[in-house]
Amino acid sequence: MSRLQAFQRDIAGVQCLTGEDDLRSRSRDYYWYSPVLDAQLKDCRADLIVLPASEEEVLRVAAAAARHRLHVTVRGGGTGNYGQAVPLQGDVVLDMTLLDRVLHIEPGRVRVQAGACIETLLDAVRATGQQLMMYPSTMAVATIGGFIAGGSAGIGSARHGILRESGTMRSIRIVTLEEEPRVLTLSGAEVELVHHAWGTNGIIVELELALIPAVDWLQSIAVFPSYPDVIRFGSAVQGSGVDVFLLSAVDRRFAPYYADFADRFDGSADAMFTMVNPRDRERFAALVGQHGGRVTLSMTADEVRASGLPLVHECAYNHTTLRALKVDRSWTYLQMVVPVALAPELIARQMERYGDEMLMHHEFGRLAGAPRLSGLVLVQFLDEERLDEIMQELRDDGCHVMNAHVHVLEKSGRKHMGSDEVRFKRSVDPLGLMNPGKILSLP
Ligand code: FAD
Repeated sequence: MSRLQAFQRDIAGVQCLTGEDDLRSRSRDYYWYSPVLDAQLKDCRADLIVLPASEEEVLRVAAAAARHRLHVTVRGGGTGNYGQAVPLQGDVVLDMTLLDRVLHIEPGRVRVQAGACIETLLDAVRATGQQLMMYPSTMAVATIGGFIAGGSAGIGSARHGILRESGTMRSIRIVTLEEEPRVLTLSGAEVELVHHAWGTNGIIVELELALIPAVDWLQSIAVFPSYPDVIRFGSAVQGSGVDVFLLSAVDRRFAPYYADFADRFDGSADAMFTMVNPRDRERFAALVGQHGGRVTLSMTADEVRASGLPLVHECAYNHTTLRALKVDRSWTYLQMVVPVALAPELIARQMERYGDEMLMHHEFGRLAGAPRLSGLVLVQFLDEERLDEIMQELRDDGCHVMNAHVHVLEKSGRKHMGSDEVRFKRSVDPLGLMNPGKILSLP
């Protein structure tokens, strides 16, 4: 009997999938945004997909995987971008989407299972007059556990900062990968050990998240004479006290990928896609006017749905990239943080330097209360060498570039593996079975 068969015998009763289509589709995520990663990861396959439906089943799976020394790659909705959820060494993909219950909602907090779809969770908390502080633009598919384990910022970051510092994550409950697995609940600063660790150090089974009073955000588009004007406007909004949940700047050359917006964003001007507190509608419109712009959309979410348009969050973050890739697969993307005080002039220079090789897209967020500007620019893919060259030029400009074309946690520029992280990883995954190949700095 093979190790895999022995494992399956030990977890009898837990749902498993072995069909070729399931093995293929559930071994993938959105790594194909990067032609570099696409070439490296397209043939990676799990040998078995396991779908536990309760914490008790997760414990049985963890024990059996440890006993039979099988690698385990945890998966939520599979919307990550860097091959985060791709099983580099085969074995087991642990699909968490059956652990999908919203357990308890009270004022200011929600307890939820890790595999819950974020949109379902949002609907549940909205029914109590509350909302999440932040969510990814993939909320219709992504799981809340996957967002905490793989994401970093999103819709809401313009108001609450990046996930790490937002206060969203109140506690995280994990199952360790050992022959006798433990259940640990991390809270306070400890949640940072598991957040954005790509499922390398514990299986998240449950989370407690902070909630805030719900706002019926106005879905808005404002257009401006130039892209640097859009960036100046974004900084002005952030300094004005106008309450926004999303501030997503796209250059006019994206318009062919936004045909559904027709004359609201038609390629004759550069645009800011935003979510604005209705209380501040007039102040927002006044600021648009002061920056030489014009509001082309200002509707509630219900009105947007009724008019057949997409919600603006589906035009932000990496949905912007997705829109372009659906039409033209010659694009890829780069991720960076741009020094916000220098941004309008710096970005103008970069537009001149790269011409049609690069399309501009930036997201306004906050870090430690101060404005933060993230670039998610499109680049025509030539080869890896040219990508490296551009990334170096952007670094020379003073931008902090996160390499979106690697499948290694530390190289993507987001997670520091210090002694606390290494100690924690060794204690919760002593056999080194979780999501192998994603951390470099471990023996
Ligand atoms: P998956 O892709 O399934 O997994 C992500 C990582 O988390 C993997 O390493 C996986 O092993 C690990 N993981 C999943 N579940 C668990 C668990 N229960 N326990 C332990 N580890 C686990 N990201 C953002 O931060 N903000 C955005 O706005 C955003 N927009 C995006 C738009 C598009 C179009 C795309 C393709 C991606 C976007 N992303 C964004 C990246 C991605 O969508 C988010 O990180 C998302 O929240 C991942 O959730 P998921 O359930 O799909 O996770």
